[in-house]
Amino acid sequence: QRILLTGANGFLGTHILAELLKAGFSVRSVVRSQSKADQLSRIFPTYASKMDFGIVPDMTIPGAFNQVVQANPPFTTVLHQASPFFFASISKNEDFLLPAIEGTTNLLKAVKEHAPEVKRVIYTSSCAAVLNFEAPIGTNPQKVYTDSDWNPVTYTQAIEGNKAIAYRASKKFAELAGWNFIQEEKPNFDFVSINPPMIYGPMHSPAATVAEINESNVRIYNNFINSTTDAELPPGGVHMYVDVRDLATAHVRAVTTKEAGSERIIVSSKAISSQEISDLLRSNFPELDKRTPVGKPGTISLPEGAYTVSNEKAKRMLGLTFRSDEECFVELGKQLLEIEKGS
Ligand code: NDP
Repeated sequence: QRILLTGANGFLGTHILAELLKAGFSVRSVVRSQSKADQLSRIFPTYASKMDFGIVPDMTIPGAFNQVVQANPPFTTVLHQASPFFFASISKNEDFLLPAIEGTTNLLKAVKEHAPEVKRVIYTSSCAAVLNFEAPIGTNPQKVYTDSDWNPVTYTQAIEGNKAIAYRASKKFAELAGWNFIQEEKPNFDFVSINPPMIYGPMHSPAATVAEINESNVRIYNNFINSTTDAELPPGGVHMYVDVRDLATAHVRAVTTKEAGSERIIVSSKAISSQEISDLLRSNFPELDKRTPVGKPGTISLPEGAYTVSNEKAKRMLGLTFRSDEECFVELGKQLLEIEKGS
């Protein structure tokens, strides 16, 4: 089977690419520049015969994907997860919204018109498209979000709100564009949406400097490593998370699992509070003794009845199991400290 993967050089993308290659697939990686393609070739030297590249510098341009979706032998599955998430490189809200939404629509159009053998398009959405961020975090009874929930944010709020609102809305409206395309255009392929919460865990190929660490992991670095013992632990928001390696497995299983077709699948491990992350890092890295916020060790810093998301479908349909908190945060912590030393 040949697979097209957008955003292959990103934090999640590189892990997905590694898993696909290991599973024997032949993969065309779509990236924004030749230097990013060369970087991937260097990371996976033993898979040269199973890899090629498509360069799409700007996915908002109509027809941007028309060439790269064509191949001989043809693609049977497309994985689309290129989307802006690195806040530091965003100057206005449209920088999140337009590439996410138009990128998805342009890709789906290209597949329909130029890649008739494609049977499935898998879109990496987010729990940002599921959760209501205006609702209280803790309730009685506890709120358990499922795949039938949608973030109620409107497009006007996304344009007028802060960057976080714009990012979350970009994921909602891009995913919706996918479902609407299927309904209106009735293409030959089915659509699958994978909705992860925050993604943490070691980078497949560690960033060279702190400035290049991806958005979710750099928040761990800033809040828990590059901090002080008496700093406030990051409060609000529930750290619902998934390890990047488990999420990469979920994407590969979504390629091969027939019943995943037309499903919206939340792929989340569990909630972890800031306090628990702090305790894990402090107990595993003596050098963090004077840096990581102490808080109230041994407690759980989440409000009572804090919402959660259901991972029932991911376990049932994709047969997923999840790595432990230790595996995720200790391996990540070790890597972040090494990157810091080399920076
Ligand atoms: P990264 O920033 O590491 O990777 C994002 C990928 O998308 C890169 O390949 C990047 O290319 C590409 N990209 C970014 N902006 C654009 C753009 N304007 N046009 C074309 N390509 C672009 O992010 P992650 O790996 O963390 O995210 C991967 C996917 O997972 C995204 O869809 C994200 O929304 C989703 N997600 C991430 C979560 C997380 O906690 N990390 C949580 C939930 C969902 P380049 O290197 O050229 O910038």
